[in-house]
Amino acid sequence: MKLENRISREKSAALFAEAKKYFPGGVNSPVRAFKSVSGPPLFIRRGEGCYMWDEDGNRLLDFCCSWGPLILGHNHPEVRAAIVEAVQNGTSFGTPTRMGNLLGGLMIEHNRFLEMVRFVSSGTEAVMSAIRLARGYTGRNKIVKFEGCYHGHADALLVKAGSGLATFGTSTSAGVPEAFTRETIVLPLDDEEAVDAAFARYGDDIACVIIEPVPANNGLLLQRPDFLQYLRDKTRAHGALLLFDEVISGFRLGFEGAAGHYGIEPDLLTYGKIIGGGMPVGAYGGKADIMHHVAPDGPVYQAGTLSANPVAMAAGYATLQQLLQPGFYEALEARTARLTSAVQQYADDKGYPLTLPHIASIFWFNFSRDIIRRADQIDPAGMERFKVLHHELLQRLVYLGPSGYEVGFVSAAHDEQALAYAVEQMCAALDVAFRQ
Ligand SMILES: *Cc1c(COP(=O)(O)O)cnc(C)c1O
Repeated sequence: MKLENRISREKSAALFAEAKKYFPGGVNSPVRAFKSVSGPPLFIRRGEGCYMWDEDGNRLLDFCCSWGPLILGHNHPEVRAAIVEAVQNGTSFGTPTRMGNLLGGLMIEHNRFLEMVRFVSSGTEAVMSAIRLARGYTGRNKIVKFEGCYHGHADALLVKAGSGLATFGTSTSAGVPEAFTRETIVLPLDDEEAVDAAFARYGDDIACVIIEPVPANNGLLLQRPDFLQYLRDKTRAHGALLLFDEVISGFRLGFEGAAGHYGIEPDLLTYGKIIGGGMPVGAYGGKADIMHHVAPDGPVYQAGTLSANPVAMAAGYATLQQLLQPGFYEALEARTARLTSAVQQYADDKGYPLTLPHIASIFWFNFSRDIIRRADQIDPAGMERFKVLHHELLQRLVYLGPSGYEVGFVSAAHDEQALAYAVEQMCAALDVAFRQ
């Protein structure tokens, strides 16, 4: 089906044509290429609050928010001021800085699950390093991950379930040797029996179980708290570590992330996205006795030329201070709930098979009436409807991440007026998506 443009996308289309000469697929991260939706990706020039402006001059109401980092919205004045102030002194020294202490100290002071952290430059790097630490600390080789969770693009994690129960995975990317995937066990979410089977067979060699406690990279697959608790108990009983990958949920479900929300203590945690306030920062942390195994205190090597970059630290520190304001999370969550319940009500009235699961300020368009907790429960047919919804919303100047498997984010800059506009346009766009 051809989806017609009613907004101008000519400048973006021309820039994309040029970008294709420079970058594989014209992009520097694959989903940006708009492969699962229609038209060229929009080239963004500027952002302010809940809006961003593309090169054609369209002003878009943004629910992608740079894929999660921008919990305060675009170009927050205090974050910008902190960056500008930091940059006056230079951009990088390759030494410890006071800014690193400020951000590290703030994270640890307000998060009971962190005794020590190490800063890196991306979520991928945080997870990759935390897994090395789990292996170094336990002296074991295997890791358990879940189908439908994304943990960045380190080799050992680009693995999906193979055939058969609790078998080793197969790689989801060319270039990952089979030997690497043999150390990764991939299980379905929401399935205690599969966890039991894996531990019964390989329990002595499992270094850690890694999970997104709020899986939000393949739809929003909200887990039963019981299942997360089960992972806690099972890992503890077998001397394996529990690693919560909180790159999305950290500082999103509250300052203590999903661990705080569910009251479950993992051994290691990874962060990214929000902690850099829009600059490239990741971190991993946990109990001090585990973290002391990292170099130079311990034998697990991990380093970074630009780690704890002072400008990025300043952006993160300014962001996290805003999150500590009383009532910040409650207000954001209430706004998100109003958005999703208004759209849900409309869909229900019209009899559309749609649900909008949400938690804190994360939401997802699920083209089904079922509660979905596992990746294999998502019906790919819904993605065709999403494509129409995405296109129709773009025409109405509302920007969602360009794939039906991506979640949406509400920021503190999404005011009542913007959200009322979003509800109106989402309902109208659903009429189009369900008319097809
Ligand atoms: C985004 C994400 C990552 C990867 O972070 P990058 O900064 O893109 O490398 C890892 N884990 C989770 C849960 C994520 O959402």
